[in-house]
Amino acid sequence: MKGMDGGNFRVHSDEVAKAAHDALEKRGVTIEGIAEIVFEMQEPYNEGLKMSHCIESVESVLKKREMQHALLVGIELDVLAEQEKLSRPLQQIIDTDEGLFGVDEMIGLGAVLTYGSIAVTTFGHLDKNKVGVIKKLDTKTGGQVHTFLDDLVASVAACASARIAHRQRDLEEAGKDFKDITADQTAPETHVEGTTT
Ligand code: MG
Repeated sequence: MKGMDGGNFRVHSDEVAKAAHDALEKRGVTIEGIAEIVFEMQEPYNEGLKMSHCIESVESVLKKREMQHALLVGIELDVLAEQEKLSRPLQQIIDTDEGLFGVDEMIGLGAVLTYGSIAVTTFGHLDKNKVGVIKKLDTKTGGQVHTFLDDLVASVAACASARIAHRQRDLEEAGKDFKDITADQTAPETHVEGTTT
């Protein structure tokens, strides 16, 4: 559809953000579930880190358009595969989570790149070791397809972990740690971007 200016009508960012949140929720993934992974990844290195900091970090990552788009694409494909609406042979490949497919990992990996090397290595770790809710998603139960969702959750968790690691350094340099700040005082966005991209 074309707009008055001859360009395409754009979907409002709020609608995309809401759709991405809703998609996760509908697939049974909660912010808390992802934050638990972040906590497990970062707690050993961050004195005073609380779940509330991890939740804030996950929410912040979910505000990124890049991540919202990845979530929408991946989850849509999982759902379509579940409903057997894809064409052969893609239907079978996604339905069976074919080991050599790799496009699911690539979408997850693509979405972590803006968060820098800690996000990339954490994503690799989560992809291999299937921590928390990722493990649950990876274990196939009755007709559900989570071929993309496990990688997307790993991606969000990896980005949120990287944010915390960078915030920790800033706190340390200011003579503080996570004990000294509440969740709503967690990293201003510019910090992460300034240090990791
Ligand atoms: Mg996968």
